[in-house]
Amino acid sequence: MTEVIDGDAVAADVRDSLGDAIETLKREGVTPGLATVLMSDDPASETYVSMKQRDCEEVGIDGVHVELDTDAPAADLYDAIEDLNADDDVHGVLVQSPLVEQVDSREAFRTVAPEKDVDCFHPENVGRMVAGHERFKPCTPHGIQKLFEHYDVETEGAEAVVVGRSMIVGKPMANLLIQKSDLGNATTTVCHSRTGDLAAHTREADIVVAAAGVPEFIDGSMLKEGATVVDVGINRVDADTEKGYELIGDVEYESAKDVAGKITPVPGGVGPMTRAMLLWNTVKAASEQTGVDVEMP
Ligand code: NDP
Repeated sequence: MTEVIDGDAVAADVRDSLGDAIETLKREGVTPGLATVLMSDDPASETYVSMKQRDCEEVGIDGVHVELDTDAPAADLYDAIEDLNADDDVHGVLVQSPLVEQVDSREAFRTVAPEKDVDCFHPENVGRMVAGHERFKPCTPHGIQKLFEHYDVETEGAEAVVVGRSMIVGKPMANLLIQKSDLGNATTTVCHSRTGDLAAHTREADIVVAAAGVPEFIDGSMLKEGATVVDVGINRVDADTEKGYELIGDVEYESAKDVAGKITPVPGGVGPMTRAMLLWNTVKAASEQTGVDVEMP
């Protein structure tokens, strides 16, 4: 019997549990603050940023939104980030990607103060995570670890395959899976577009994390019976719906669910966890910057 991993439910649980930590901070006069920075007219980015702001409002985090003109020079963005770095009411700064072409995104991510880098893109934080003493974990892989925790997915000793090697999902996911720590200790293979025979790897895996951004390219025939399948992909494909499109994952759900032991759906799997863990990182950042101790769920 395949277990469908309910990301909406686990994310709601994470948000509820964060409530206690936020109350503790507020009793000490600290309201966690998250700044989102947008310099793009990409409609999907605008949607993501407004969802993140709404999430903040729901849990009692102060949301600040800074939007820069898409024609402005890159220096304006770096200055705006510096202002947020200096603002004591802002504990987390998130620069939404993709950025306009005149901006060097690596420079933008480096400008965010490491203590406020709730996306974990700053090289210092990436290095700390790789070394196994992280300040923050990137939201998507961290959210996937929370799903593993809630659904008793054993990573220790498991064969894990991560499909995709981006800085935002694939690489940090693989790094967390190999850490000598809880929710790590997996023997991990990273596959990508140059992998010779992808199916040969995924068929051996107890855990498959699909993060390639290719609609439904992993099907049931590529999976081992009983595997845990985590579908990170969010692909917009034309469909006869009100919006004219639908969102589908990297995994062909129908065939995969007959083989998998546990599987995340799209939507309602990893996506809500990514959003919840951004709130988590913001609360942690607020606690560390103010010295008010809270218990993180
Ligand atoms: P990127 O495009 O940055 O990276 C995709 C990776 O997949 C690359 O490493 C690429 O290989 C690899 N890849 C592409 N095609 C294949 C293939 N046919 N076989 C094997 N590997 C392949 O994407 P992201 O990591 O940013 O995002 C991946 C997906 O996850 C997207 O659909 C995105 O929308 C979604 N996403 C979802 C989130 C959520 O919260 N659910 C959060 C972030 C992203 P190579 O390096 O060789 O090019």
